[in-house]
Amino acid sequence: KPVGWAILGLGGYAQNQIMPAFAHCDHSRIVALISGHTDKLKRVGDRYGVPEKSRYLYETMDAIRDNSEIEAVYVITPPATHPEFAVRAAKAGKHVCSEKPMAPTPADCRRMIDACRKAGRLLQIGYRSHYETHNMRAIQACRSGELGHIKSIRSDHGFNMPGGTWRTQRALAGGGSMMDIGIYSLQALRYLSGEEPVEVTAKITNPPNDDRFRDVEDTVDFTLRFPSGLIGHGTSGYSWQPGKNRYEVVGDKHTLVSEPATSYGGNTLTLDGNPFPVTANDQFAAQIDHFSQCIRNHTKVRTPGEEGLRDIRIVQALYESARTGRPVRMRAS
Ligand code: NAD
Repeated sequence: KPVGWAILGLGGYAQNQIMPAFAHCDHSRIVALISGHTDKLKRVGDRYGVPEKSRYLYETMDAIRDNSEIEAVYVITPPATHPEFAVRAAKAGKHVCSEKPMAPTPADCRRMIDACRKAGRLLQIGYRSHYETHNMRAIQACRSGELGHIKSIRSDHGFNMPGGTWRTQRALAGGGSMMDIGIYSLQALRYLSGEEPVEVTAKITNPPNDDRFRDVEDTVDFTLRFPSGLIGHGTSGYSWQPGKNRYEVVGDKHTLVSEPATSYGGNTLTLDGNPFPVTANDQFAAQIDHFSQCIRNHTKVRTPGEEGLRDIRIVQALYESARTGRPVRMRAS
């Protein structure tokens, strides 16, 4: 029987990417909606055939406890709201998937991890690239030695962010481009190298006279020094036109480039400039179905809360480096 999911937060990503992907899932189905808006509950509920009794407002969502059809809750709201919603879902006895970035601070992330652990429920972070075939193939190529010894690795992610949304408010977003899109550069450097940084540096550049960057940062240039000596170079930006979405791994035998690397679709890989064909998949459905199978089979989640926490610790260290102008050593967690 497919796992029943409640979708919490009916914004752009939920309605345009996540909900349509359930049509391609074998192990998951939408059984409930949780929103702040009655009109959206009606409109989206009617479209997806969710019965009225399974449509909840945030104020009334604790009643999901009594709805045994709901096994997992997918939290797709601004990052600073993830902890409260995740904790409430876990307390109601549900497994939790939270969008990235997991939460503004490591303490928030730990609160989410602890709540799920205490409730005996699983926690997944929506790191879709881990379930996308080009990225999975790139990880294999980097880790198996196919490229030879890795000499250099870099990743760049940026776009032109429209103002006037939660993304420009630190209190809701937890930070600027680094939290939202730079996390893809950070993730790529970590999952391609297979290493965790021991020291990080970052510099932040904000354009003058751009209202979008009163409260959150625009461009971040950062480095991660890994235990092997490899240095990962990353960038992140919110005022980039055209955008960037790529990584490049230089080995002493071959060079692997992915561009776009972490888009919703159309990702590509090249090896020494030649196409490196990979069969595309629906990464959203793959991520959702993976979690459902973990729930059914009691298996380990590929991108658990601990993975989200690792990123948030590093992002905090990057912000500290940018603030102090000094490298920041990562303490063992
Ligand atoms: P959005 O602005 O389109 O939607 C946000 C939704 O959250 C809205 O429906 C809004 O009503 C609701 N919401 C609940 N509490 C809120 C509050 N206190 N303030 C403002 N809105 C509130 O944003 P989005 O692009 O759908 O992003 C939602 C989440 O999904 C974020 O965590 C974001 O980082 C993540 N996201 C992930 C990906 C990905 O590729 N994995 C892509 C886009 C967004």
